[in-house]
Amino acid sequence: MLKVQEFLKQYDGEPMRIMEVCGTHTAAISHSGIPSVISPKIRLISGPGCPVCVTVTSYIDRLVSLSMEPGCAVVSFGDLLRVKGSARSLNDARALGGQVRMVYSPMDVLKLAAAEPEKTFVFAAVGFETTAPVYALLLGEAVRAGLENIRLLTSLKTMPPVIDWVCAHQGGIDGFLAPGHVSVITGSDLFEPLARKYSIPFAVSGFEPEQILISLYALVRLRGRGVVKNLYPSVVTARGNVQAQRLVSRYFEPCGAAWRGMGVIPNSGIRLRPEFARFDAGSAELTQDRGFHSACRCGQVLTGAISPHECPLFGRACAPQTPQGACMVSTEGSCYQYYVNRRD
Ligand code: SF4
Repeated sequence: MLKVQEFLKQYDGEPMRIMEVCGTHTAAISHSGIPSVISPKIRLISGPGCPVCVTVTSYIDRLVSLSMEPGCAVVSFGDLLRVKGSARSLNDARALGGQVRMVYSPMDVLKLAAAEPEKTFVFAAVGFETTAPVYALLLGEAVRAGLENIRLLTSLKTMPPVIDWVCAHQGGIDGFLAPGHVSVITGSDLFEPLARKYSIPFAVSGFEPEQILISLYALVRLRGRGVVKNLYPSVVTARGNVQAQRLVSRYFEPCGAAWRGMGVIPNSGIRLRPEFARFDAGSAELTQDRGFHSACRCGQVLTGAISPHECPLFGRACAPQTPQGACMVSTEGSCYQYYVNRRD
């Protein structure tokens, strides 16, 4: 380990930019202070891996409007409640009388729906490959229990197409810390085509500081080589969790998805299959992405084009108590993490 730390600290080769594509990695890197113990020639940048951050404003607007409809309640994780749409957040809607319930698990909506059968409960289904199996389980239970008053407003996304988009449109990235949680479901092989296409190494990494440092070491050593290293073998396999993949495929199918600051990326999301369309709350139309604050630069932060410090609002008008964009709301957001950990 000492050898790894020394190597990363004393690295004096070509400057490198390494992107972590997972909000949990962004948080772990920021908490642990890793950027301050490695060479300034290795620049760590955050990518589009925070599910709340990449959600477009029209999705929030739709949730806000659903919460105000008679006989309808929106159910969501806490982070999403504070994200502004083009005018309001779900918290604002609740203050105006909107029906908004916060839960800790999507499965909680089953109890709500059974207790109030006259009401329609719309779950704000955001997330990546990691959370999709839970939504599939939820639908399975709803079907089994005959609960027809549950809907999903989906903003479910998949990682490889957005990494492809970042490489093709942004470029300048020499290595990826591949998302650990996503890889548990998808398997590490998923990143092979991208590694080969762009001759960029990927390291599937755990979340402990030592695991991240070892992954960074591997990426520096593998620079310019299109290979995938699974450095999280205790939980990640080459093919992933096939049972979970089958479960997701039973209820969902691939579709284009809108990403904050990036527009619609083909095949970068999943939607309900036609046979389960009765559980959908109108997810297909949600592609508009007008920012609540016109100076917010979340889109550029999410693609690694700028660091949060380069946004003119960072630490001024925009801080965790007064967030102007989604990246300052979520605890996995780059702006939030850079702010609370004073990351450079
Ligand atoms: Fe948006 Fe705030 Fe981040 Fe600027 S600092 S990009 S306004 S979230």
